[in-house]
Amino acid sequence: GPPSPLSPELQLRDVFITVKTTRAFHRSRLELLLDTWVSRTREQVTRSHLVVTNCSAEHSHPALSCKMAAEFDTFLASGLRWFCHVDDDNYVNPRALLKLLKTFPQTRDVYLGRPSLNRPIRASEPRPHNRTRLVQFWFATGGAGFCINRKLALKMAPWASGSRFVETAALIRLPDDCTVGYIVECKLGGHLQPSPLFHSHLETLQLLGAAQLPEQVTLSYGVFEGKLNVIKLEGPFSPEEDPSRFRSLHCLLYPDTPWCPQLVAR
Ligand code: UDP
Ligand code: MN
Repeated sequence: GPPSPLSPELQLRDVFITVKTTRAFHRSRLELLLDTWVSRTREQVTRSHLVVTNCSAEHSHPALSCKMAAEFDTFLASGLRWFCHVDDDNYVNPRALLKLLKTFPQTRDVYLGRPSLNRPIRASEPRPHNRTRLVQFWFATGGAGFCINRKLALKMAPWASGSRFVETAALIRLPDDCTVGYIVECKLGGHLQPSPLFHSHLETLQLLGAAQLPEQVTLSYGVFEGKLNVIKLEGPFSPEEDPSRFRSLHCLLYPDTPWCPQLVAR
């Protein structure tokens, strides 16, 4: 139909990006993000606010679900059109993200990300009278980032807002990212929309060609079997200066950044 005055063309400021982190990683991980992609998305990243949760600082399912709940609730309160979650070892390319999100009509429910497995995960859902029901659903890897539009997020609220997210996660005894998939697919009958543009360090990141890098929505870095699992980029920074390669990637995407080596016109 004709463009509605109620839904003007999507802009980056309509997208709410949350970064899950913990105090122990503020120096080692968050600084790198603040220096790179966050500097280009100030308004999006929890509106440059740090939301201090009273979630416990552990890598346990309940603690991480507690943080996902805080991310979800902060998005609902923001009133914005899209919610995108990432981890603190993700690089987000704002231009690629916007381009992707623009391809979805606002009339649809959208849950977008990289499928964690090549098949649906199974869970057993407790039912009344000590019974259980076997359920199957797809979910997006939290470590690659995922996005949900407001239309869908509002429908998820009965299972995801306030204390309910942690309760839902405890019910199926799975991590926070699985819980998001469970709510969307099993409670609401929705579907994960798979996208190959989101990446976690569970993949072999060196396989991405340099020419493909600017098109990717998220990237990551990590250690696998004692070796760094990072994207392959020649420079401008050495692996010692820039082990994650995020600084080099940022200079490729935003060459006008003050700390990037400037090309001298001659
Ligand atoms: N994290 C957290 N509390 C913890 C450990 C990790 O909030 O005690 C966050 C961390 O900041 C990151 C995410 O959980 O955003 C995943 O952690 P990490 O990358 O260390 O582990 P992975 O699951 O990727 O192996
Ligand atoms: Mn990680």
